Amino acid sequence: MKADCIFCKIARKEISVPVIYENDNFLSFPDANPKIKGHSLIIPKNHYNTILDVPNTLGSELMDCIKNTSLNLMQKYSATGFNILSNNFDSAGQVVKHAHLHILPRQKSDGLTFF
Ligand code: 5GP
Ligand code: ZN
Repeated sequence: MKADCIFCKIARKEISVPVIYENDNFLSFPDANPKIKGHSLIIPKNHYNTILDVPNTLGSELMDCIKNTSLNLMQKYSATGFNILSNNFDSAGQVVKHAHLHILPRQKSDGLTFF
């Protein structure tokens, strides 16, 4: 854990967030500045700087959190699809240096573009 890391504080429940889904090692919650309705984040509960630092042994739990979070958001926001995005290192636009995935519930013609 890093004392000055905002996502560590969320993982430790020092900062309260509406939890969408959690298991032993991952937690999901709404992004504070959503790019689209329902935009949410998945974080590991331990501090890792990027996805490269997350142990492979947590892969199954990460998939569990991705699937449950995405299904929950699709139901809640009547979405018909979703994107998974992860910014790693400065040059890819990573602002918070605690590994995380963005989950973006999508609808046809919602106007969000990536490429
Ligand atoms: P990235 O590092 O992938 O570029 O973006 C970090 C994301 O975390 C941003 O979308 C930002 O809105 C979100 N974020 C930053 N600080 C907080 C926070 O304290 N609470 C929540 N819920 N989201 C945050
Ligand atoms: Zn952290």
